[in-house]
Amino acid sequence: MTEKIYEALGRASSLLEQRGLEPHTAQMLMEFVTERSRASLFADLREPLSQEQHRAFWEKATELLEGRPIQYVIGEENFYGYTFKVDENVLIPRPETEELVYGALERGRKLFKGTSVKVADIGTGSGAIAVSFKKEWSTCDVTATDISEGALAIAKHNATMNAADIRFLQGDLTAPIAHEKWDIVLSNPPYIANEEAAQMSGTVLDHEPHSALFAEEDGLYFYRKLAESLPPLMNKSFLIAVEIGYLQGPAVHKLFQEAFPNALVETVQDINGKDRIIFCETSE
Ligand code: SAM
Ligand code: GLN
Repeated sequence: MTEKIYEALGRASSLLEQRGLEPHTAQMLMEFVTERSRASLFADLREPLSQEQHRAFWEKATELLEGRPIQYVIGEENFYGYTFKVDENVLIPRPETEELVYGALERGRKLFKGTSVKVADIGTGSGAIAVSFKKEWSTCDVTATDISEGALAIAKHNATMNAADIRFLQGDLTAPIAHEKWDIVLSNPPYIANEEAAQMSGTVLDHEPHSALFAEEDGLYFYRKLAESLPPLMNKSFLIAVEIGYLQGPAVHKLFQEAFPNALVETVQDINGKDRIIFCETSE
């Protein structure tokens, strides 16, 4: 005998709750397994699950109960209205990063008017920033890089899936793009200080790639490297946007202002009011 939708949902939610995990992920999983929207799921709560659905639901619920993030369990995440395939090779794209894309599009369009511009996304992971930027501003010439071969494979898949024409290069930070000049550089580099690991949830710490999360020098290593290597690579008019940890605003602002003394450097907060993005652009 299989359970009804509400019975399986109720049981999985309480098991998750007992383990200190997010109970609402049971509902997301049920939507995925039964291929229902949230609305039709609620309309059909008293429907029985088919044997196949029941088996699939509990198989994947077991992964949730082991602390695997829901996005890896169902294999996808939504970012900026687009669907991205994700697995353990890539960071699950975060909503804060959508604010970087939004802000960079707004500033970039103002700065470069209608002209087509050259854009690089450094440390592209799933390709979230590069793909959504290209979809929203299709005349841009977009290049995305990562040091991880596994991440690049997923990013390429996501570009194809979303019909975004992007060039991918593998390598360390600016090394693969150093022989060209750029109008816009975007990056969400790893920025968590190693010491912060103790406060992080097991769902992130035990499953997401550490090479996408952690950075040396109190999490500032990648900003130092970028501030050092970007000045000769930028065109006369340029925009740089980097995501930062909420305590890194003053330090990263200083790094970019020193590297680009004539630029306008701004620290911008996310919707939770935390410092989240540094924009650095030509001021004239
Ligand atoms: N851009 C994606 C996003 O916003 O969801 C992923 C960001 S994740 C925080 C950082 C990415 O930088 C990871 O994909 C990681 O593999 C990559 N990375 C780490 N060290 C790097 C390096 N030295 N050069 C280039 N990419 C690097
Ligand atoms: N925002 C991510 C987290 O909190 C970290 C991403 C990063 O290091 N760039 O897990």
